Parts: sequence; C-alpha cells; structure tokens
Amino acid sequence: MSTKIAICPGSFDPPTDGHINIIKRARKQFDKIIVAIAKNTSKNTIFTTEERIEMLREIFKKCKDIEVDSFDGLLVDYCRKIGCHTLVRGIRNMSDYEYEFQMALANKTLYPELEFIYLMTEGQYSHLSSSIIKELIMLGGTSAGMCHPIVEKKLKEKLKK
Ligand code: ADP
Repeated sequence: MSTKIAICPGSFDPPTDGHINIIKRARKQFDKIIVAIAKNTSKNTIFTTEERIEMLREIFKKCKDIEVDSFDGLLVDYCRKIGCHTLVRGIRNMSDYEYEFQMALANKTLYPELEFIYLMTEGQYSHLSSSIIKELIMLGGTSAGMCHPIVEKKLKEKLKK
C-alpha cells in the first residue's frame, strides 16, 4: 500500500496554534505530513527560515509522522521535486477563501495533478494570525493560548534585539 503524504505549506512567521491545529487535523487523514516553509514569501518575515524550522521541529518533536522542510521558489516545483500532489491549507474567513481560490487556480494551471484540501478553522483559532501574535508581544502582551511557549520565548528574544 502506498504512503499517503500531504504538504502543509506556509510562511509560519511565526507558527500559531491555528497552524498547529490545521496540521494536527490533517495528520489524521494522511500517513505523513510535510510542513513546508516558504523561504521567499512576499511577506516581510521577522524570523529566518532556520528559526522557523527550529520552532516547528520543536513543536512537533514527538510527532514522527510530521516532517519540517523549507522550499525556495515555486510551491509547485517543490511538490514535483518531492513527488507529492496534495496540499492542505486552512481557511479562517472569506478573505482567506478568496486568496486560496486564486492560488489554487494558479497552481493548478502550473501543475494540473495538484489537489487541495481545505480545513475550516476551529472557533477558538479563527481570529489568530502570525501578525496578531507579533503585535501582541511587541506591545507587551501575552500570547498564552495562541501559540506554543517556544514561539512566545523566541518572539520576546527577537523583539529585544
Ligand atoms: P501563507 O503566507 O502561505 O498564507 P501562513 O503561514 O500565513 O502562510 O498560513 C499557512 C496556512 O495556515 C494558510 O492556509 C492559512 O490560511 C492557515 N492558517 C493560518 N492561521 C490559521 C488559523 N488561525 N486557523 C486556520 N488556518 C490558519
């Protein structure tokens, strides 16, 4: 029987409990999940690729079926390279939906075999984004219940510099 693999791509700058929830739910449907960090995202990232890899590996260190990797350039080229044509993404609201719809059509044009699975956010994560967490910590707040403690620690260290 072949191994069912899916890629969860994103910037994860930094990873939030919303991301973790989507990845853990995707895990139930597949034998292996590859969390793929986009290196050259159009977003201005606060963490380097290595820092994002380190945080995600720490978060999923007990999950043998979750691998953390990064990619440069087009996501479709990465999917082809590793021979995986299933992507999992999360949706929080209509603007996520519109963005995902456009991205899916563009990516499918480049790689017709590619398929997308969308998981709806769970209520307690619907307001969560990497940028909200960065802002909360920057303003001296706490992100308890929004991200893994390693993420809060790394954000505080980063913002001190
Ligand atoms: P990207 O820059 O590719 O959108 P992100 O790191 O912002 O990368 O998000 C990666 C994926 O996680 C996307 O599918 C996004 O919609 C999803 N996601 C982010 N935050 C949440 C959340 N709170 N609940 C559910 N899905 C989320």
